[in-house]
Amino acid sequence: MTATSHDVINPATETVVTSVPLASVEETDAAIARARAAFPAWRDVAPGDRARLLRRFADAVDADRENLARIEVENAGHTIGNARWEAGNARDVIAYYAAAPERLIGQQIPVPGGLDVTIHEPLGVVGAIVPWNFPMPIASWAFAPALAAGNTVVLKPAELTPLTAIRLAELAREAGIPEDVFQVIPGAGTVVGQRFVDHPDVAKIVFTGSTAVGKQVMAGCAQHVKPVTLELGGKSANVVFADADLEAAAAAAPYGVFDNAGQDCCARSRILVEASAYDRFMELFETAVRGVVVTDPADEKAEMGPLISAGQRERVASYVGSDAPVAFRGSAPDGPGFWFPPTVLTPDDPADRVLHEEIFGPVVAVVRVADEAEAVRVANDSAFGLSGSIWTRDVGRAIRVSRAIEAGNLSVNSNSSVRYWTPFGGYKSSGLGRELGPDAPLAFTETKNVFIAT
Ligand code: NDP
Repeated sequence: MTATSHDVINPATETVVTSVPLASVEETDAAIARARAAFPAWRDVAPGDRARLLRRFADAVDADRENLARIEVENAGHTIGNARWEAGNARDVIAYYAAAPERLIGQQIPVPGGLDVTIHEPLGVVGAIVPWNFPMPIASWAFAPALAAGNTVVLKPAELTPLTAIRLAELAREAGIPEDVFQVIPGAGTVVGQRFVDHPDVAKIVFTGSTAVGKQVMAGCAQHVKPVTLELGGKSANVVFADADLEAAAAAAPYGVFDNAGQDCCARSRILVEASAYDRFMELFETAVRGVVVTDPADEKAEMGPLISAGQRERVASYVGSDAPVAFRGSAPDGPGFWFPPTVLTPDDPADRVLHEEIFGPVVAVVRVADEAEAVRVANDSAFGLSGSIWTRDVGRAIRVSRAIEAGNLSVNSNSSVRYWTPFGGYKSSGLGRELGPDAPLAFTETKNVFIAT
């Protein structure tokens, strides 16, 4: 029997927050039909009016920011500071793409015998499938550019974290965006998500989640030659060279991997340290890790909260067995909640699974590398290629290593990966296509070429 509702659990207290009905295949089909019916009118809204509606939506999110953040603290165990940033990011992303309807500019291409122009036309109904780790930002990265380009959107939040997506859809309606233009449909991945993939009236899928499910989604889309954007897992390297500002690199490193309790596709879960700086780095890093404030996520001082679920804690714990090479650990509260302390491992075997699998928890592996060439080789010894950092004072090295590492988003002397102005996405098994940045709306369009004979 498929469940008809899901109890949303507060991961910091293990208490039930609310129960959310889960959509059936029939309800999903009905929502897709409504989105399909709403498409022609939404496509034909004048660009300036569509822009105005999206700006109003961004304003509604802005006015509701604190409420959205509180919902996320309760639903996902995110620290209040992070949750406020996430609500602000959703606002900014909607505001940024509110400029797109009026700037979806084609080309005029010189050809003999006539005039040639390209037109970017919306696809129709876009299906967005969102994970539980960053419910608000990841939802907005999909729906905002899709709506801006003139598509209607059906969005499936993760079963574990549906509440902020439901609220965002309410805010869209309050802002005047027609109900069927942007629908949030909570449900199981194998029911609602799978139906988006299989339904012939869903013109494109945007999926963020595990590589395993992403491959299934891509295979399903292939049956319909349906375009798909995939944001999948990561095993990003934080490369620290001996010439770096070691104090700054070590102080920042915990937040590059333990932020959101490590449940971040960009988590720098491998730290590669040049051998001559290894001992000094580890000394500084230990102090920094022990200083991470792991506590009630609603506490203003919290820097890390619990994991999302008991199941996720079990998965993460499976990487830290009794024989694990633990160098040192931070703290975590006792009592209820899916807590796991920040944990630093120093594996000897380059094939150790902690160096290759996405743990999606507060566990980092530190490796010694001899020099620049070995750093690049080890950084690239991964099926994934999403993010990474390079810490060095040598500009030439920063550029060489940035070019050599196979990943979509690199930062030099910084661990930040996401800026809504810039493209985001992965190499290799980390995904397909890019989100964010100036070109994102084009991923939700077909390019039509029209030749007019003169
Ligand atoms: P999944 O890939 O299973 O879930 C992501 C989304 O896909 C959810 O909305 C899920 O729905 C949906 N989904 C599940 N099965 C299908 C399907 N057959 N067709 C269409 N949609 C589907 O990730 P998990 O939540 O299970 O997390 C497992 C691991 O994946 C994590 O521990 C982490 O390693 C990785 N992960 C990586 C993320 C990233 O950002 N790179 C994000 C999330 C997970 P439902 O909620 O019902 O399962």
